[in-house]
Amino acid sequence: MNKKEVISIFRQMPSSILFKCAGSPDIYASEYFEKCFGIIDLETSERSLFTFFDQSSKEEVAVGDDPFSLIESGLEVNGYFRLQTSSRTMNCFVDGNVVTTTTDDWIVLYIKTDITGLLDLSQKESKINQHITFNQLLTNFSSKLINANVNELDSIIDQALAAFGAFCDVDRCYLFEFNDDGVLMSNTHEWVAAGVIPYINKLQNIPIDTMPFFMSHITNGLFKVDDVSALPESASLEKKSFEEQRIFSLLCVRIMVDGTMYGFIGCDIIGAPYSWKAFDIEYLRRIGEMLGNTLQNLHNRKALQKMQIELLDANKQLERLANIDGLTGLANRRLFDATIKSDMERSKQNDIPISLLLIDVDYFKQYNDYYGHVAGDNVLKSVAETLSNSCLGNDDLVARYGGEEFAIILPNTDSDALECIAARILRNVSQLSIAHEKSKIKGILTVSIGMACFNSRQSTKHNSVEKEHYNATSFIEDVDSALYRAKNSGRNCATF
Ligand code: GH3
Ligand code: MG
Ligand code: MG
Repeated sequence: MNKKEVISIFRQMPSSILFKCAGSPDIYASEYFEKCFGIIDLETSERSLFTFFDQSSKEEVAVGDDPFSLIESGLEVNGYFRLQTSSRTMNCFVDGNVVTTTTDDWIVLYIKTDITGLLDLSQKESKINQHITFNQLLTNFSSKLINANVNELDSIIDQALAAFGAFCDVDRCYLFEFNDDGVLMSNTHEWVAAGVIPYINKLQNIPIDTMPFFMSHITNGLFKVDDVSALPESASLEKKSFEEQRIFSLLCVRIMVDGTMYGFIGCDIIGAPYSWKAFDIEYLRRIGEMLGNTLQNLHNRKALQKMQIELLDANKQLERLANIDGLTGLANRRLFDATIKSDMERSKQNDIPISLLLIDVDYFKQYNDYYGHVAGDNVLKSVAETLSNSCLGNDDLVARYGGEEFAIILPNTDSDALECIAARILRNVSQLSIAHEKSKIKGILTVSIGMACFNSRQSTKHNSVEKEHYNATSFIEDVDSALYRAKNSGRNCATF
């Protein structure tokens, strides 16, 4: 028998085998093997494209440790490998032997792919063990997910997909999310078995109306296809896209968040059709539910966070409003009282000067009586604006003290600087040239100013005991007396 005849005989053997002539790199497969792996037409160039992976570590088996080399060097092979072909990758039970013909030695590997069936025969309990392991896995993930924050979610989803993929021996496992208006969907997470081509990058922003058949099923919870080639005519769009990705079987379950479909989780079998078992569906459903609950949780947390931020903003706004005088927009009496207290404390502690001005509009009662209350209000607004513009210190606080009286706190300002500022205010108010026919001063609106200083040359309190007992109330009493003196000195002036 020549080599060609031997190959032809091996190819027609009614079992799934891979074989090669000792010393030659070319590997051949029986037709039965090709059917099992969904290989359609093995190209000559693909003859050596059979890669063995360690089943648990998913690492490629080192050169010399693959089943062919082991048998060729006289060792026995009897165990599990993950076998990658040009079509798909599957976990296989492999054993083999050497077949000698007159001219050559042939290494023959027997490949058994129906592992579940195999286990059923040999170990009745293994399926129960499998379920127990999977449940432990789910428990493990759900406890991780309970406290997961947004940053950890991606990696936990990746781990869950990998666990499911490896466990159910599928080729690809993924999560798709719909965009906000539900028009597009994108593959956000993907796991692929060793040797399987990832597709995530090609599956971004896909219009959902290109998958009408799929959508009509997944919206009801489940999309299960055992054999893509048997899809009906109404699924022609989906069929084309699945066939492009060499998907033969797929299983998807929807994920619900906040009562709407958030996306779906699914898995593919490449290269050969597979009949999904009840437990495959059950497992995928449970992972989908777990992710849905987690996303719902994060969604609730985000909504709560948003509400908290809005509340904080509203509180800040309220606090701001509570400190502002409605007519002039200046600080109100409440803020003035709080500020003078704390500024006085700071001035005492650091032994730095602080000054206070009390400004009162002259003959304002007459102004109101003559021009009316509305005009009076407008005057108060103009004076308030002028006061703000006349104080240039960052820490100065201009406040409406009450009625037509204003107060200005000037931290870190000594009596010399204060006199300059008061003079500037008198000048700026006069320059507003607001007509005030009933004023005894020049016929225009003027103000009188009381000045007081602490920790400065003009301070009335010099010894440490007096300073210690001097407080915000005494400071205000002093500035009020100063204002009284200014009024008595003919108004339109500033006095200590
Ligand atoms: P003086 O030069 O001695 O300060 O005389 P005055 O008339 O300004 O003094 P007085 O305290 O007797 O009068 C203050 C007036 O300010 C009484 C009130 O009609 C007026 N006033 C107080 N608050 C407001 C306000 O919010 N709007 C208006 N338009 N007038 C106000
Ligand atoms: Mg007054
Ligand atoms: Mg007045």
